Amino acid sequence: LKESMLNHEINGTQSGSKIEVLDHGYVQHIESWGSDERIIESARMSTNKGFQGWTRTCSACAESPIAGTVFIKQFIDDGMGSETKCEACDGTGEVEGDTKLLRYLWEHHHMTPFEMAGATFEIQAPIMVFREWHRHRTQSYNEMSGRYTELPNLYYIPGRGRLRAAQQSKKNKQSSEGCFSEEMVTKIDAVLRQSTEVSRNAYEALLEMGVAREVARLVLPVNQYSRMRASANLRNWLAFLDLRVDETAQWEIRQFAGQVHAILGERFPRTLALFNEHFTKGD
Ligand SMILES: Cc1cc2nc3c(=O)[nH]c(=O)nc-3n(C[C@H](O)[C@H](O)[C@H](O)COP(=O)(O)OP(=O)(O)OC[C@H]3O[C@@H](n4cnc5c(N)ncnc54)[C@H](O)[C@@H]3O)c2cc1C
Ligand SMILES: [Zn+2]
Repeated sequence: LKESMLNHEINGTQSGSKIEVLDHGYVQHIESWGSDERIIESARMSTNKGFQGWTRTCSACAESPIAGTVFIKQFIDDGMGSETKCEACDGTGEVEGDTKLLRYLWEHHHMTPFEMAGATFEIQAPIMVFREWHRHRTQSYNEMSGRYTELPNLYYIPGRGRLRAAQQSKKNKQSSEGCFSEEMVTKIDAVLRQSTEVSRNAYEALLEMGVAREVARLVLPVNQYSRMRASANLRNWLAFLDLRVDETAQWEIRQFAGQVHAILGERFPRTLALFNEHFTKGD
């Protein structure tokens, strides 16, 4: 089950373009810095040896004329030796190099090298998603200003599948479950659309009366879409993902976190592989 939470294909388009999330939202990779290699290089400050390669030649069989084998002297009749598969590298001729160091850093919580990399994303999401997102204090944010500009006529209306599963959970006070009938879904959808329309109309009426944007916005609901940049180092993005791709997080923020996860997986494949391993184990 935990593994399935990490199956995030990038929705349709390449990272770098706006990747659609929910009905009007998106995640866009703006930039990232550092790399898996940079993390290793930063960790090697004491020895100044830098990045040495993810694998290295197996020293146990390096001298052998056939890679991946070791020379065994068998004093058989003719006095000749023979080659046998090298156990140190399982016959591949290569052993783990800095792959091992990256794993060591991760497993022993030597996390500062992971702060030497990072990423910035642009996100368009409903305000109720931002309300959860902004609790992550170690990210830096810049959000569009509802005082400066009219907020877009974009509102989150959940799809029918989400609404079907939107009955208040009896087991978990913070969660929803799936069991609404199609008829109920239609009714709920109508209430959401109607109340959103009333709010938007009130907002536009106030603006037309010359009311300042900072005051007119008082009538806007939390399904109002907003836009922001969010920037953090890789360590903090991983802490965010740990909480927000998990099934205990609200479904809506999980959709955005899933895209962040997929994009970081492209940029930092080895670090994200370690994250995934740790996440699935749940430790
Ligand atoms: C499933 C779920 C349910 C939630 N329910 C609620 C809820 O009902 N009510 C609610 O208010 N919030 C709720 N939250 C938000 C939650 O309490 C955190 O505010 C949010 O997840 C951010 O986590 P964080 O503080 O670890 O992140 P960040 O603020 O990014 O901090 C990262 C890490 O930095 C350190 N740190 C940052 N600031 C401080 C500080 N001031 N002092 C000490 N250490 C610091 C901590 O080690 C922290 O883990 C919920 C979150 C989730 C995922
Ligand atoms: Zn070998």
